[in-house]
Amino acid sequence: MFSAKEYELEFFKAHGFERQKCKKCGKFFWSTAQRETCGEPPCDEYTFIGNKVMKKKFSLGEMREFYLTFFEQRDHTRIHRYPVVARWRDDTFFTIASISCFQPWVLAGEVEPPANPLTISQPCIRFNDIDNVGKTGRHLTMFEMMAHHAFNVEGKFIYFKDKTVQLCNDLLLSLGIPQDSITYIESEWSGGGNSGPCFEAVVAGVELATLVFMMYEDTPSGKKEMRMKVVDTGYGLERFVWLSQGKENVYECIFPDLLKRLKNYAAIQKIDPKISAEYSRIAGLMNVETHRDLRELRRRVSEKVSIAYEDLVKLIEPYENLYALLDHTRALTFMLNDGVVPSNVREGYFARLLIRRSLRAMKKLNLDLKLSDVVSFQIDSLARDFKDIKDNASDIIQLVDIEEERYERTVKKGREIVSKFERERKLDLDALIELYDTYGLTPDLVAEFSARKIEIPDDFYIQVAKRHEAAKKVEKKPKLEIPQEIKETKLLYYENPEMKRFKAKVIKKVGNYIILDKTCFYPEGGGQESDKGKISKARVKKVFKIGNVVVHEVENPELIRENEEVECEIDYARRFQLMQHHTATHIINGAARRVLGNHVWQAGAHKSESIARLDITHHSSLTKEEIKAIEDLSNKVVKEKRKVIIEFLERNKAEQKYGFRIYQGGVVPGKILRIVTIEDWDTEACGGTHLSNTADVGEIKIIRAKRIQDGVIRLEFKAGKAAEKYKKE
Ligand SMILES: [Zn+2]
Ligand SMILES: [Zn+2]
Repeated sequence: MFSAKEYELEFFKAHGFERQKCKKCGKFFWSTAQRETCGEPPCDEYTFIGNKVMKKKFSLGEMREFYLTFFEQRDHTRIHRYPVVARWRDDTFFTIASISCFQPWVLAGEVEPPANPLTISQPCIRFNDIDNVGKTGRHLTMFEMMAHHAFNVEGKFIYFKDKTVQLCNDLLLSLGIPQDSITYIESEWSGGGNSGPCFEAVVAGVELATLVFMMYEDTPSGKKEMRMKVVDTGYGLERFVWLSQGKENVYECIFPDLLKRLKNYAAIQKIDPKISAEYSRIAGLMNVETHRDLRELRRRVSEKVSIAYEDLVKLIEPYENLYALLDHTRALTFMLNDGVVPSNVREGYFARLLIRRSLRAMKKLNLDLKLSDVVSFQIDSLARDFKDIKDNASDIIQLVDIEEERYERTVKKGREIVSKFERERKLDLDALIELYDTYGLTPDLVAEFSARKIEIPDDFYIQVAKRHEAAKKVEKKPKLEIPQEIKETKLLYYENPEMKRFKAKVIKKVGNYIILDKTCFYPEGGGQESDKGKISKARVKKVFKIGNVVVHEVENPELIRENEEVECEIDYARRFQLMQHHTATHIINGAARRVLGNHVWQAGAHKSESIARLDITHHSSLTKEEIKAIEDLSNKVVKEKRKVIIEFLERNKAEQKYGFRIYQGGVVPGKILRIVTIEDWDTEACGGTHLSNTADVGEIKIIRAKRIQDGVIRLEFKAGKAAEKYKKE
């Protein structure tokens, strides 16, 4: 609980706001009008449906532009959206809020924000309400969070509570919303070990914005003020548009063209907008979570509009399917555009989930279209505001078509699988999840194939999504404790990748492990095996990094004494071969993307002396022709003698200059990134050792390509001497 003082703002005092207590929920709120209630459901219901709340009707594009321009005119810098796949984070798959873009690096104070203050409209994806989408008039799996953020540190104060509320209030007024109809409800926010007071800005029964002031760290001894105080706001673009149009539900406002097209195809019975409006209004008052809630919602609507329950259901179900289809295909388009390949693991799992649910919705609607037709309608309508989606259109369509074919095959086999399953065990929740996860059979499909009545939990998809959202992070235990006084090893292989011999001082010896003050031995990392060689007379077997310290594992440690100066030599033939394989990995990655499409991302890599492999995301096994094309293109790049350029860039600058494709190898920690560019071919953040020109890679030979898991292809290859040797054998 935060004290009342946290919410007392000069702004409120100066503008005639009064602190009042809601008679229904007991929450405190600020308003210029005298009110009984706080304004938010369930204390108050939607009053905007069929009413004019804003000065005009906005489309998504118009509203987004209005918002961003408003903040630009008030000294904020407009920031381009981030991908919906959070590749810079190792704790979540998707971007779930605008602040996600700046976590963890900016909030940890390690990286400067891209601008300060800034404004952004960030597409976000969340699966925690997926079963409600289409049914409540308001839920979406994808939405845009418009935001203005300020990052305040000592010596650099931007703005905090007063100005935040003032900006929000001015925005609402400039949209023609009367001051008296705005309430600011006092609330609390906490997450990730931080917390702070917040306001919910409510208009006409809808929470339009959340204004969070991240300012405390929650420690065992209580709340401590954060070094950086963050203004974290979130304004729901779709809600703003809904409010401006006052239509019966959010979907009718954000998908006007698509609905017109699809309603024609689906030939569904017209519904009186008054019924849908009543539906959204009552749903707005309820927290619809289970089937029972949904039945209750429908019962209340049928009473209110005097239509028999069954007739109402018959009338609204097609609309629910249509709305879900449109929401899902929009989210899907963004995911595929931003580099997700549908599969049964990681991010790909969620893309497939949306595809299968969309296909079921289409089946129920009896739509005589392919899913890719609907996706291509989406692309047409999104292309106006998101140019990159237009550019990737053919790639996106192809991914969807392949998935649809796969689904049809699944359905064909489904009946057999279900009856076999049924003979062996009960079709309970675990069985349903297994049938979905392993065979891709959705529960309603299972119900269709099963002879018995199947209980499908209302939140089935929320449950399966949750199981797959479990953190990506894997903690590894270090092999030894590094003494505190040892901070970092100087890395000579970055200064000169061709260095073969060097002198260094032994600063610590623990068992077989040697720590030097500086080293040219490359420690294993980024899929590249470590160097071998000698420290004094002792053989180096393996080298690895713990934090910023390089540890050498030697065979005969008795030959080395602490504090002595030692002569070191790396096995340069091995190193050179590793550099050839490593540089070839970047070349092949770029070639695969050009041959197969923009959805290709590195999913893993390993470079040893004798052979290397690169795992890429791709939907199908590779044909001989595709493998040949990738190999030929790679060798062309070798022959073209392209330069390999290394630069150290601040994270922001690197992202701005090269985009998020730099995170091919996954999450890279730290403020400064080491960026490796093969001239006009490929750019990645990479800590490995590379050759300085592609010519030195020598011939590249792809030995094998195989599908190692759903959506991932492994390319095994050799380069340089290893390739020559292979050809002779
Ligand atoms: Zn209330
Ligand atoms: Zn590299």
